[in-house]
Amino acid sequence: MTALSAAKPNLLGLDRKAMRAFFEQIGEKPYRADQLLKWIHAVGVTDFSHMTNLSKPLRDALTHLAEITLPEVIYEKAAADGTYKWLLRLYDGNCIETVFIPEKTRGTLCISSQVGCILNCDFCSTGKQGFNRNLSTAEIISQLWVAVRKLSENGGKHDHIVTNVVMMGMGEPLLNVPNVVPALNLMLDDFAYGLSKRRVTVSTSGVIPAIYQLREETDVALAVSLHAPNDELRNKLVPLNKKYPLKELMAACRDYFKDDRRRSVTMEYVMLKGVNDQPEHARQLVKLLSDVKAKMNLIPFNPFPHTDYERSDDATIARFQHILMEADINTTVRRTRGDDIDAACGQLVGQVKDKTRRHQRYLNDAAKKVIGESV
Ligand code: SAH
Ligand code: SF4
Repeated sequence: MTALSAAKPNLLGLDRKAMRAFFEQIGEKPYRADQLLKWIHAVGVTDFSHMTNLSKPLRDALTHLAEITLPEVIYEKAAADGTYKWLLRLYDGNCIETVFIPEKTRGTLCISSQVGCILNCDFCSTGKQGFNRNLSTAEIISQLWVAVRKLSENGGKHDHIVTNVVMMGMGEPLLNVPNVVPALNLMLDDFAYGLSKRRVTVSTSGVIPAIYQLREETDVALAVSLHAPNDELRNKLVPLNKKYPLKELMAACRDYFKDDRRRSVTMEYVMLKGVNDQPEHARQLVKLLSDVKAKMNLIPFNPFPHTDYERSDDATIARFQHILMEADINTTVRRTRGDDIDAACGQLVGQVKDKTRRHQRYLNDAAKKVIGESV
């Protein structure tokens, strides 16, 4: 068994390929990787000494060479409708939130990919708090690890099972592809969580090169945060649109499932009163989507402190939906859930620790690089 030079790797964040490479590196057979994946993710064991099908010398060696560390669960909140929210504290004091939403036929976990977000969409409270850092693969997958264990502690009933994962918490997953892809691999891996590729969704505000890259590296479902039917309005709501405008975004969406005609991209559209919710917007959308296979998901806006936006009323949302349905665009309206625990999209704010001015300047420069102009 050879020693590793760097700091101890956290095995929680290794997908099957990386775990095999780790075991090869320490002079062990690659099938050990499969055993470790099962212990950590399927069984939930994080103490090497409890991994009974490994020899004692191997367990001792792993204790010296590696670690399995999780964030600390600071609190758990349960809403009246069965929604759960957990706040996790990371090793550096930053916090992230994870939400579980049970429905009749599925249980969806909403997870974060970054602490904060650099893209600064006008209607999003994550965007308003700035960006701090990317989450590691271990931190991304730990949200699923914690949810699975906490739900089984809380009864493990059929409505306490995670069947779906959506990357719709804090952050832009496609600005953290190197850490997000191995986490997706773990979600899909039969030795880990074994979720179906149709039930794992990456949501993006439209980082076009990364959409193409994602398509090369996995085949999970894709949701695109559209929010406006024309560039002028989208430039205001989603500043990233100035760098990656609608025409190119639609081309990337057309391409994403071109080898599997049965699947389609989901377009998310937050309903903002008097801003993007008028019949003319719906008609423009019909045109925009005329040659893209897409489903629409209308999201009633979740207000947060100091925002000027308001939620469209139900009748306006229904009228909007009707126009899209008339044009044969499959359109659903997202039900708001967990209202009593602030467990909605755009409200998973966690806490961004470092808010110094120097840091803010650094973030603004980084944002300029991403968006290509001043933000
Ligand atoms: N950054 C990614 C994923 C995280 S945001 C993205 O933008 O897609 C997940 C979803 O929540 C996005 O569709 C986002 O537009 C939406 N969202 C953000 N703030 C919201 C709010 N206040 N009310 C309703 N939906 C919101
Ligand atoms: Fe970032 Fe998504 Fe919020 Fe925009 S909507 S600021 S991309 S998290």
